[in-house]
Amino acid sequence: MIGDGDGWVTCARGHRHWGRYGAAGLLIRTEGAVVLQHRAPWSHHGGTWGVPGGARDSHETVAAAALREAAEEAGIDADSVRITGVHTDDHGGWSYATVLAEPSRQVVTPASTSAESVEVGWQPVETVDQLPLHPGFALTWATLRAAYPPPELVVDAANVVGSRPDGWWHQRLSAAQRLHGQLAVFAESGLEPGSWPQPIRVVGLSWLYPRTTMVVEGEASRLSVPQSPSLRVVAADGSGDDAIVDVVREHPHAVVVTADRELRQRVGALGADVIGPRWFLNLITD
Ligand SMILES: [Zn+2]
Repeated sequence: MIGDGDGWVTCARGHRHWGRYGAAGLLIRTEGAVVLQHRAPWSHHGGTWGVPGGARDSHETVAAAALREAAEEAGIDADSVRITGVHTDDHGGWSYATVLAEPSRQVVTPASTSAESVEVGWQPVETVDQLPLHPGFALTWATLRAAYPPPELVVDAANVVGSRPDGWWHQRLSAAQRLHGQLAVFAESGLEPGSWPQPIRVVGLSWLYPRTTMVVEGEASRLSVPQSPSLRVVAADGSGDDAIVDVVREHPHAVVVTADRELRQRVGALGADVIGPRWFLNLITD
């Protein structure tokens, strides 16, 4: 029911909190800046800085609640951001989910669109600590700050498809299409904490949505699929390996999914991590 989350609860630690089903807020981040809300003096913890957020309704996911609150309080269009992860501060009987996001468009312009904010805008990451922070945000900021940038997966499609023992690799285009479908589901659903491989583990987050780039070559480069901020497709002009190395040059913290020994060396030299296709296929087809 709309608005059924509004109300005060007492958590297991004895605090009073707003949100019968917990609360959620949106933290939009770029390399150098975050979107923060300066709360109106009359509001709970008035005068402090935090993320736009509020009570979650019973029917909402934490992401839906955070995006709704950010639209209401900061004029943020849900389509202008990509969710990168979730941090959960669980007090027992009440929890606060900080939904992490990054701009998916060139420009995201927040604005104060509710009486609950004095001001909403981009603040330099470097000076966040100097602001009078909302007490809940102050406790989690160090963890949230360290969760950027989100993991970047680069999938060597030819190698991953070729590692499947099902003969699909004979039809490269169909196989690439099938892999893309699985990656799209994976991009949408994210990773469970227990299933994170070491190189893409992000300390302190309860959910993770990596950026994924699928690199196709040869016949598979005719793949015709929609691009999205969470899953983009790069069609190699020539060698797929060269295209993957180019992507890694732009994103040196990337994790490359391949079993190709020479490619592992080339991307490793640029600072990237590597995970094996078999392990990755288990992750995305579970
Ligand atoms: Zn509490």
